Amino acid sequence: MAGPQPLSNILEITPYKGGQKLESGWKLSSNENPLGCSPKAQEAAIEAAKSLHLYPDGGATKLREAIAGKYGIDAERIICGAGSDEIFQLLGRAYLQPGDEILQSQHGFLVYRLVAQQSGAETISAPETDLRTDVDALLERITPRTKIVFLANPNNPTGSYIPYEEVKRLHAEIPENVLLVLDGAYAEYVRHNDYSAGMDLAGEMPNVLVTRTFSKIHGLAALRLGWAYGPASVIDALNRTRGPFNVSAVAQAAGIAAIADDTFQAQSIDHNIAELERVRSAIDKLGFETFTSVGNFFLVRFEQRDGRRSTDADAFLRARGIVVRDVNVYGLPDYLRISIGTKPANDDVIATFEAFAAR
Ligand SMILES: *Cc1c(COP(=O)(O)O)cnc(C)c1O
Repeated sequence: MAGPQPLSNILEITPYKGGQKLESGWKLSSNENPLGCSPKAQEAAIEAAKSLHLYPDGGATKLREAIAGKYGIDAERIICGAGSDEIFQLLGRAYLQPGDEILQSQHGFLVYRLVAQQSGAETISAPETDLRTDVDALLERITPRTKIVFLANPNNPTGSYIPYEEVKRLHAEIPENVLLVLDGAYAEYVRHNDYSAGMDLAGEMPNVLVTRTFSKIHGLAALRLGWAYGPASVIDALNRTRGPFNVSAVAQAAGIAAIADDTFQAQSIDHNIAELERVRSAIDKLGFETFTSVGNFFLVRFEQRDGRRSTDADAFLRARGIVVRDVNVYGLPDYLRISIGTKPANDDVIATFEAFAAR
């Protein structure tokens, strides 16, 4: 007997595969913070775990106020979610239906496509130039069916970014009924004067939403915590679609402590700046093509020659206790994405690449 049948668009979804884990060794496949999280956030989580029988504040009020204070924005125009992933899901529920389109960059973050598929909407991808978002290519693909333009800036897995002037140009040319989502998952890591996460656009414009996460610089990926800031009408729509207690009390408590811990954030940024350049340039000097990144990860390109392919390097690294990200699903079969780890992990990555190059 045939059981209940899910919607056909649901069966078309290829489930998201997270970065793989190892029994032991270095996990450099999910862009996690190698320094862990703020000790204050950990303390706050442990304290909150003493009251697990109580429902959380469904409005995440104190957390929204903490975020608002840090960025000088209106707490009423912030929504928190179980990771920014949940915010993307809410966007799909609130704004997408069959026949609609979302627009993203060629090597854009995979979750946007999954969200579209869940709603029966189509994903249109705009080609990139040198692994970088091409604003004109995006604009050329806006149609009357376009509902959301997703822009991860910096982008994962490429590690590239576009300057704020380009983001503003993109926004200026997009119809007002199309929502521009600026995913700033790696915003804190960027050290360029021409970059902005776009908080002021989200503050002023009726169709710009900024999403942020506690999973990366704050090192709280396990707790699932993200947020978005934008027009009151968009926040209202998302609030209507979310579950009443979508963010756990432990996550809220840790988030409040994490956002106040400027010291930990500064340490994380300093570590990343120094180590990213050290690892990338060492691998580059061994003759591999590497790509400049403003995130906490970078791409390496491999030859299309037996024994030298990305799949060979992936297996070689894995056999030596290093797991990196195969980015085939992003349309980058010749590449591997490597997250920046602790100093010992990075030393090991460099030594293993030396061995791979020498064999
Ligand atoms: C890691 C990442 C996120 C964060 O996802 P969470 O659900 O908040 O953990 C969002 N966008 C991009 C591009 C990412 O790489």
